[in-house]
Amino acid sequence: FNSNHSFNEFTPPNTFEPELKAILRANENPYGPPPLAAKAFQDEVFAGNRYAWKTLNNLIEIIAEKENVKPENILMAPGSSDILEKVAMVFFQKGGDVISADPSYMSLINVSQSVGGKWKSYKLLPDSQHDLKAMEAAVDVNTKLVYICNPNNPTGSITDSNKLKSFCSKVSEKVPVFVDEAYIELSDNGLTDSMVSLVSEGKNVMVARTFSKIHGMAGLRIGYLVGKAETINKINEITRGGMGITGPSIKAATTSLQGEDFLNMSKSKIAEARAYTENYLKQKKYNYLPSQTNFMIFEIDIDGQEFLKQIYSKQVGVRAFTFWGKNWCRVSMGTMDEMKLFTNAMDEIFA
Ligand code: PLP
Repeated sequence: FNSNHSFNEFTPPNTFEPELKAILRANENPYGPPPLAAKAFQDEVFAGNRYAWKTLNNLIEIIAEKENVKPENILMAPGSSDILEKVAMVFFQKGGDVISADPSYMSLINVSQSVGGKWKSYKLLPDSQHDLKAMEAAVDVNTKLVYICNPNNPTGSITDSNKLKSFCSKVSEKVPVFVDEAYIELSDNGLTDSMVSLVSEGKNVMVARTFSKIHGMAGLRIGYLVGKAETINKINEITRGGMGITGPSIKAATTSLQGEDFLNMSKSKIAEARAYTENYLKQKKYNYLPSQTNFMIFEIDIDGQEFLKQIYSKQVGVRAFTFWGKNWCRVSMGTMDEMKLFTNAMDEIFA
């Protein structure tokens, strides 16, 4: 248990589009939204005088079928952020420990801590997988929830799905396990590596998914949680699942689930950008972590704040973090043109 976890982020300059030529900051999909989904969104605006319960229930049924669970196992939300925050508020109202990797995605951890929870972090293994043994051993009477981000952000690394499945099966006998699968569709094995089948087996596992990444709809705000009906009810007792999503976004998500072409195109274009970026980092001898997502992280040997100032001045937006006593840049996969602007900026900064 790493009581002095050092994960932190450098503050990016307050520079937004259109001042940036390469927007590589938030792991968005440069190709979205899918054209048919955008059209469905526009059409649905005219039904905007009504609450969207019917379209929402229809989407829940479609998702339940896709995930091989019942509608009562699904909680919809305006993005998976909303789910991470709600789960943190519901589970940590009376304090308790949240176990996760260091570094990992901080949304659920931050909200847990703000309502009185305590973060117990476990450093990723040298191959950047979760240290499942240490995390399993750490579960005790104070543990309220284990958070696993797979693939993990900000490292882009994936934890072996067989090992994770047996971890989730065992640990969920004691405490709920939350698996954040925001990037799972982009991983080499895609949805095959999902933990969602554990929910249909009745395990106390929650899986969060989003339309922000492979579906290219980050700004439309839609995501969902698959979990035990009791868990979904527990969250719905104090908040209203799905109430925050607009009808047009629901229609856009419904439409996006009906076609594979956009998803396949996104995955292959993102893989192309990743191969280009990896090749560049390798050639220039950066210490980078292999990624199965739409972002990559690599070590920088200058101050993160100074680095951000310089790269933003070249109209390239990325993020910078510090963990394990080192500074890192995280770059999202954009179009090939954006990736070239990124590598040119890097060449100039580190000439
Ligand atoms: N989970 C992870 C691991 C993420 O990286 C992100 C966003 O970058 C989210 C959840 C939240 O995404 P959204 O709220 O758009 O679904």
